[in-house]
Amino acid sequence: MLELDILAFGSHPDDVEIGIGGTLIKHASQGYKCGIIDLTRGEAGSNGTPEMRREEALKAAEIMGMSVRDNLGLPDARLKVDEESLRAVIEVIRKYRPRVVLGPYWQDKHPDHLRASQLVREASYLSGLRRYPAAGEPYRPPLLCQYFLAVFAEPTFVVDISACYERKLAALSAHQSQFGLPRDIDWRTLVNNPLFIRMIQARDQYVGSMILALYGEGLYLEQKVVVEDLMVLKGLPQDGPAWKVYREKK
Ligand SMILES: [Zn+2]
Repeated sequence: MLELDILAFGSHPDDVEIGIGGTLIKHASQGYKCGIIDLTRGEAGSNGTPEMRREEALKAAEIMGMSVRDNLGLPDARLKVDEESLRAVIEVIRKYRPRVVLGPYWQDKHPDHLRASQLVREASYLSGLRRYPAAGEPYRPPLLCQYFLAVFAEPTFVVDISACYERKLAALSAHQSQFGLPRDIDWRTLVNNPLFIRMIQARDQYVGSMILALYGEGLYLEQKVVVEDLMVLKGLPQDGPAWKVYREKK
């Protein structure tokens, strides 16, 4: 049975890439086993078909070095926090027993993102209840972090993703049916506006600037974390990647 270090959940097949793609790429390239669970097949999206989107999602997962990418097939644009959906999320948490669960932030404009946030949060807790009626051995992931989509808030900490930024962009580009230029697709949306990818980049640069890095992704923690060794925490770098780029340009 494959156990994962990190399991990231998203409502739609491109959410994880947008919010936390760089963090997953970084951890996978450090040797951690990472996986993605898309809650819906994105069938309510204006462009692309579920089959197309599954293919794009698998391509992106390969670029990101993911060990698994599953799809729970819950209803897109009609996601609900009900017993059936909770059971599906609990069973996948019990199956992969991740040390860290990543889910969307608890505030967002898109109702699916909000419900996904709630589903992941509740399932992460309920999954540990011995008598909860779901398949699999009880397991409660020790750490739940939330990533940002349509609403940004102050992150608890920032992951420096400068070194893997090209791969984050490549993973996003794999979702051609969503982010492709308007002439190639059926319907103009917020995300196929060419400025959308630039907006993601601008946010990643802004978040990176909080730790003097070129690009960063923020994570929000509701819970307290245990620290055994203060030396694993890093503050602002004295000689960060920005200086390296500056020196190379000179
Ligand atoms: Zn989404």
